[in-house]
Amino acid sequence: MPGLLGFGAACAGLTVGKDLPPALVVLTAALLFAVVCATFLLRPRGNGTLARPRSPRYRAATRSFDAVRLTPARATVIASPDQARAALAGAVAAGLPVRMHGTGHKAGTTRAMGGAALLKVRIHEPVTVDPVARTARIPAGTTWGDVVAAITPHKLGAAHGSSGRVGAVGYLLGGGLSAYARTTGIAANSIESIEVLLADGEQVTADRSAHSDLFWAIRGGGGGFGIVTAITVRLFDLTHAMTGTMIWDGAHAADLLNAWHQWARSAPDAITTSFRLMRMPPLPGLPPALTRHPIVAIDGSIPVATAGSAREAEALVAELRSSLRPVAPPRRDTFRLASPLETAFTHMDPPIAVAQVTDSFMITAEDHAAVECFGAFADLDAVGLATLELRHLGAALARPVRDGGAVSSVSGDYFYWGLGLPSRRTPKSHVTRSLDEIRTALAPWQTGFVMPTYAPEPGIPHHLFDSSTRARVDEVRATYDPDGLFSGDVAFGATDRN
Ligand SMILES: Cc1cc2nc3c(=O)[nH]c(=O)nc-3n(C[C@H](O)[C@H](O)[C@H](O)COP(=O)(O)OP(=O)(O)OC[C@H]3O[C@@H](n4cnc5c(N)ncnc54)[C@H](O)[C@@H]3O)c2cc1C
Repeated sequence: MPGLLGFGAACAGLTVGKDLPPALVVLTAALLFAVVCATFLLRPRGNGTLARPRSPRYRAATRSFDAVRLTPARATVIASPDQARAALAGAVAAGLPVRMHGTGHKAGTTRAMGGAALLKVRIHEPVTVDPVARTARIPAGTTWGDVVAAITPHKLGAAHGSSGRVGAVGYLLGGGLSAYARTTGIAANSIESIEVLLADGEQVTADRSAHSDLFWAIRGGGGGFGIVTAITVRLFDLTHAMTGTMIWDGAHAADLLNAWHQWARSAPDAITTSFRLMRMPPLPGLPPALTRHPIVAIDGSIPVATAGSAREAEALVAELRSSLRPVAPPRRDTFRLASPLETAFTHMDPPIAVAQVTDSFMITAEDHAAVECFGAFADLDAVGLATLELRHLGAALARPVRDGGAVSSVSGDYFYWGLGLPSRRTPKSHVTRSLDEIRTALAPWQTGFVMPTYAPEPGIPHHLFDSSTRARVDEVRATYDPDGLFSGDVAFGATDRN
């Protein structure tokens, strides 16, 4: 919860407890306490029995972060591995295929659920940290915010993404592009073992020595292997994060893009940044600073473990500032040495979802023309989009690991992400057309693959990996789920058996 306060404050460029008036801090703390109590009391309780539409349990199980309505035939909340086994047996007996979700952050881009049993897997167990082995066991349904809160007191960090509200399991199964990605590499590489309930009802732990084929495929392979009940990840030393956001008026977009790209070309592996053009409507939870005008936001994070690396991190951010400030001084600059808890708020991901259309893929940008092409769409009012982003790839992300999974590295210089928020003024068809135009314009630089966690709309043809990897993950699926009980959960672009 400190994060919610941190979210608003970080966006407004304020320091909690220093710049905020004490009355506001007390009021906010009281509100947050009420929210925590309400969240605990109203937490959906599972029991593994599949519920019909319109029942409270069905409603709790189909609730998702994404602003889409999920309409499976039956649904239930799963709070323990035993409940998962009971729900699986119930679905098999009723002849229903099985789907899974945790927080529903990906609900908008998965296959339709009609005719299936949906399990909302939220295992009621705490995150357990082994500070000596430097690992954490994460029960399914846990958000990254809760994981970071559990590991930070041990001065340990994990390869989490830009939002503390995203579920750790869905993110890790999809590979995971971390806020520290250029240092950590693909987040799924940090997985030590995965506890899975298989289609035949057997509960197994897959790791490098047991069920190693499943362990390989499930890490980035596109899902549909079984019901994951927990994942154990390797952690790294982390005392602080150098993290923050710089914001400028949108008028400086072209020059800032150029300056950031020039800087990024030789940026050290330790720093991961993102360049965003934003034109956000006034949404609940978004500070006015982000919504009044078109803006440019450059945010980033550096993991810090020692005094030495804190000084190096300060120097790195100083270099970034000196590359960008000659274009124009930022309106806000919140980069500072902070608690690792704050990294999940640097990117200012909204706390609620609204109806949206997105597209994403990886691009190379060696000859600068790709970045110029991206910059040609900078007038977001004209193109009718809310955000266009380039996230810096390379460094550890580009290095395949020897014992990695189906996705252990990604190629390309930048991860492109476009977002449109359809409205009466900008209908969905307009948003889709604009995203299509950008996709076509950037085609010469596309690597041909998308990041599994961000796989786009079902209607956009895309691949998560090459054809030999697709064939291999399909083979593993056929071994562990021969009747295709979980086949609805397989991501588009991860299989040749659509
Ligand atoms: C605001 C926001 C910020 C994001 N930031 C990042 C980021 O920085 N980096 C990044 O890489 N991605 C990011 N994402 C994408 C996110 O990682 C994916 O959407 C991810 O799949 C979400 O996982 P989830 O469990 O929260 O979502 P869900 O929609 O609940 O699950 C997604 C999928 O994971 C699978 N799954 C979930 N739980 C289980 C289970 N127990 N057993 C088996 N399969 C399961 C299912 O196939 C499901 O369809 C972001 C998304 C949003 C909306």
